[in-house]
Amino acid sequence: MPETAERLSPQALHDLRCHPSGTTANLGPGWIIYHMHRQRRLTDNRALAAAVAAAKGHRRPLLIIETLPCTGPWRARRHHHFAIQGMQDTTRRLARRLALRYLAAVETKAGQLARLWRRMADLGALLVSDQAPGQPSNDDEDQARQAFLRAGRPILGIDDQGLLPLRLLDKACPSAAVFRRHLHRQARAACCDLPPAEPLAGLRLPPIPADEIAELVRRNPPLAWAAEHLSTPDQALSRLPIDQGIAAVDLPGGESAAQRCLERFLDHGLGRYDQRNHPDQAVCSGLSPYLRWGHIGTTTILRRILATVPDWDPLRLPERGGARQGFWPLPATHEAFLDQLLTWRELGQQAMARMPGFTCYGGLPAWARAGLEARRHDPRPALYSPDRLEAADTDDPLWNAAQRQLRGEGIIHNYLRMLWGKNLLLWSTDPAAAYDLLVDLNNRYALDGCDPNSWSGIGWCFGLFDHPWPARPIYGPVRCMTSASTRRKLRLDEYLQRWGADG
Ligand SMILES: Cc1cc2nc3c(=O)[nH]c(=O)nc-3n(C[C@H](O)[C@H](O)[C@H](O)COP(=O)(O)OP(=O)(O)OC[C@H]3O[C@@H](n4cnc5c(N)ncnc54)[C@H](O)[C@@H]3O)c2cc1C
Repeated sequence: MPETAERLSPQALHDLRCHPSGTTANLGPGWIIYHMHRQRRLTDNRALAAAVAAAKGHRRPLLIIETLPCTGPWRARRHHHFAIQGMQDTTRRLARRLALRYLAAVETKAGQLARLWRRMADLGALLVSDQAPGQPSNDDEDQARQAFLRAGRPILGIDDQGLLPLRLLDKACPSAAVFRRHLHRQARAACCDLPPAEPLAGLRLPPIPADEIAELVRRNPPLAWAAEHLSTPDQALSRLPIDQGIAAVDLPGGESAAQRCLERFLDHGLGRYDQRNHPDQAVCSGLSPYLRWGHIGTTTILRRILATVPDWDPLRLPERGGARQGFWPLPATHEAFLDQLLTWRELGQQAMARMPGFTCYGGLPAWARAGLEARRHDPRPALYSPDRLEAADTDDPLWNAAQRQLRGEGIIHNYLRMLWGKNLLLWSTDPAAAYDLLVDLNNRYALDGCDPNSWSGIGWCFGLFDHPWPARPIYGPVRCMTSASTRRKLRLDEYLQRWGADG
């Protein structure tokens, strides 16, 4: 494990991202296979770039397989719909590229992807895979790895979760301030190690014969499903064994939509990001679902923002940092945005990989749990059942509006999301049950759910990454937020008009 206080070179950071199993120098017969399951995009994708380099170096065909399992918690129609739109988009983007094959694989019954991966291990000389060391693996990630390991084929896992590799730190940071210092210390090197923006540009590789692909598709139900239904998936989607009760939302999924969303934000939101707490201003980027599904990467966003700086040169970044402002050569609004994207987002990524108990109530700081437990018997303004909460049926119109936005759009405005989380403490005498209910609501309904940020955001409402505050009823030492003060401070008339009643 590296000494975390050390400033690393770009090469050292790069090496920390690569996780080889077996030798990749001399490959056996077969194709290079890229398993796309975290970074679902074609630009700024380090694993794809590594797969392309291997295919070029060994003069092999390249097959990209993007998978969508049907097993695992919180698999709902809403999320499948979004991911499948991403697959449609990737198919379109690759339509005229003969140098490689892309296959989408949508599982319709548990076990199908495991069988597909056993078949792929016969055909593949090397598996390149998205990897997030320390974080829980995606459902078929282990199946793919196991199949290749059993077949004695090498694997190259690539960590592209953020600007910094997950292996950089050997333990989780207790606060954003501590993580920010690590981030700034490595930022120069990290900015010198950005992946190639367009790994497929000018690519020429040996093709995979069409009849071999057709046979593969015919014999493997997840591939056959995608071949038949990807362009008009709605009816077939209804037959998948996932939670059909959480309806799809209007937000389009996919890399092209993510890039449009980024451009909109750069044109209309970023310069006004200091007003982000006011829901009526609508200046937040809306990028979190795309980041969660890998339809866009941190690198693309960072590149676009730094491109606004004339003659930008990472070597001119200061050697020392750690403050929220004054590190990047950018206006305060841009810096504030990068702080959310890099510090807060990657703090959660690192914590998921390094902090024992990160995804459960028991993993919260001891002072917060003890303080909340000590207040279990404080009188509550009301106690609502999980059903009433899910139905946005409380006596707090602002909370109801946030819950309705979550159900209707699959997101909640950032500031209101904090209030949404904290208010559950008011309405429950059991903080552990309140925590579990929040995790369930967030991950079931939010398009960006099941992300490390899901647990860091919810944990933050319960004291994670924070410090003790002067004790208050019910909250004890945990920072308190109230709907009344939020209504006084923020501009949200339009928000309440939109979400104040069932649509
Ligand atoms: C109770 C609760 C639950 C949350 N659940 C999730 C979740 O499931 N998935 C998720 O991605 N975020 C979650 N967050 C964090 C935050 O609310 C969202 O990331 C943000 O609202 C997304 O909107 P945006 O993309 O417009 O953000 P912007 O303000 O445009 O920020 C850009 C990006 O920075 C990152 N970011 C912004 N704010 C935070 C933050 N507070 N913590 C960590 N990263 C941040 C996100 O990746 C975001 O997309 C949660 C926060 C709370 C309080």
